[in-house]
Amino acid sequence: MATRNQEVARLLEHIADLLEIKGEQAFRVNAYRAAARRIEGLQQDVEDLFLEHHLRTIPGVGEALEQKIGEYLATGQLEYYERLKREFPPGLVALLAVPGLGPRKARAIYDHLGVANLEQLERALEEGRVRDLPGMGEKTEQNLLRELHRLKQRTTRQSLGLALPLAEDLVALLARQAPVERVSYAGSLRRARETIGDLDLLASGRDPEAIAEAFVGLPMVVEVLSRGPARCSVLAPGGQQVDLRIVDRASWGAALQYFTGSKAHNVRLRELAVRRGWKLNEYGLFDEQSGKRLDDGDEASIYHCLGLSWIPPELREDEGEIEAARVGALPHLVELADIQGDLHTHTDWTDGAHSLEEMAEAARARGYAYLAVTDHSKSLGVARGLNAARLMEQRRLVDRLNHTLAPFRVLLGTEMDIKRDGGLDFDDATLERLDYVSASIHSGMSQGEAQMTERILRALRNPHVAVLNHPRGRLIQRREAYEVDLEAVIRTAAACGVALEVNGQPNRLDLDGHWARQAREAGVRLAINTDAHATSQLELMRYGVATARRGWVERKDVLNALPLDELLATLRRKRGAEC
Ligand SMILES: [Zn+2]
Ligand SMILES: [Zn+2]
Repeated sequence: MATRNQEVARLLEHIADLLEIKGEQAFRVNAYRAAARRIEGLQQDVEDLFLEHHLRTIPGVGEALEQKIGEYLATGQLEYYERLKREFPPGLVALLAVPGLGPRKARAIYDHLGVANLEQLERALEEGRVRDLPGMGEKTEQNLLRELHRLKQRTTRQSLGLALPLAEDLVALLARQAPVERVSYAGSLRRARETIGDLDLLASGRDPEAIAEAFVGLPMVVEVLSRGPARCSVLAPGGQQVDLRIVDRASWGAALQYFTGSKAHNVRLRELAVRRGWKLNEYGLFDEQSGKRLDDGDEASIYHCLGLSWIPPELREDEGEIEAARVGALPHLVELADIQGDLHTHTDWTDGAHSLEEMAEAARARGYAYLAVTDHSKSLGVARGLNAARLMEQRRLVDRLNHTLAPFRVLLGTEMDIKRDGGLDFDDATLERLDYVSASIHSGMSQGEAQMTERILRALRNPHVAVLNHPRGRLIQRREAYEVDLEAVIRTAAACGVALEVNGQPNRLDLDGHWARQAREAGVRLAINTDAHATSQLELMRYGVATARRGWVERKDVLNALPLDELLATLRRKRGAEC
């Protein structure tokens, strides 16, 4: 669901924590917490509600909260929160990150022991000074120490859907407000990994001091961890660490290459350099003997000097890309602009936020040629799934709409549940009336591998099913994939001409790059979709495309990169084919 929702929920939770430390009355604190929970659980994008002036339809959001949420969404900042934070030493707020250390206990530790950051807390716990505070005791002390150690070990990783917009904002602001000649993000984010640890930025310019100064002064900087003319580290909202490295113009290409990684990829490049009597590091590519620089300051020239074509960052994992680059056999990776339409979207007929007309209009405005509306089917009660009669009502609406929107085309589709016993939610007579049929697992996810695999294979063999959605059912950092023999699924998909989805929701990215590549190599087409539940979520396509690129996917592998007439012909052929 929308990442903005999580962001706003976290902000409100933070405010509640601070108010509680301050000793505010419980009902005020609870109002923020309740609103945070509601917003986190919203089916719609809180930003859409804001733009439509509907924030107050969220239970518990009155005029005051509406104003605060609105200010934050509009400006990226909330003055009330900034003021509130200034009433505390920044470290005290950090104490709240320790599980089990609620605002009340944090406040007691702060008041009695003067502890105002995690290091001081650790020392106080180890020295046994916390146990004597009111309401603590030895057991609490031990628990806190254990949680603190666990917290320090855990590298908090942010989803691609949160990290990429933050990085883009930071890069845009630096380009505008700092004297940079070049600025970019690097690291695993540039390789489009599904989660990102620290965020790496890179800049070059004549005045490193001024760049550093502008960076630490950016509005999203919550805390400055270190600051120097070559490197600054800060914390952004949500505790995301951001490192900026400031390099010479001449070193730009080498630094961008080096800090993009991956480590395994870089090791291979260094070996290639050494074999030629050269040295490759973050400063450049040099002749070992003469010390002369060989690259021209751009990243591509590092690769060219080493006898390789430039390798797109998404491929830099040492999984065959260097060998391919040596012989000019890199894939022509699919691009966002290749996508002709979205084949997985929901409307307010089920659990979407916007009407079918609004979704179609938004897809057309993006320049798409078509949109498949794939509302849930009847088994999915929580989403008010459609029965056959409702689908036929949708049929009439879609046909009417296509008169006015032509040449743009709305495809009447379904995201049909594969039931626990492997049966499908609609009979063939109903499916025949649809333009596009996709199938999904939404229930019985704890079935064993054999049962789950058979259940999916049965669905793939139905001649109407064109795409299997989110084939592994995982939710990143929340739910493991269900147990399924995915190689068998890929084989059957290839045999039956069914495409597998790369779902672009940042918490799904399912298939991931690894499996997308397996599917592609087996001759299976991919459908890169957003699973949008609101018009704004059509934007999530770029995460799907980035993930497919990690899987070496080319335009010709992508079902929804086909123009409308070819897509329709492909779907027709598929339905008529034996499997
Ligand atoms: Zn689904
Ligand atoms: Zn869906």
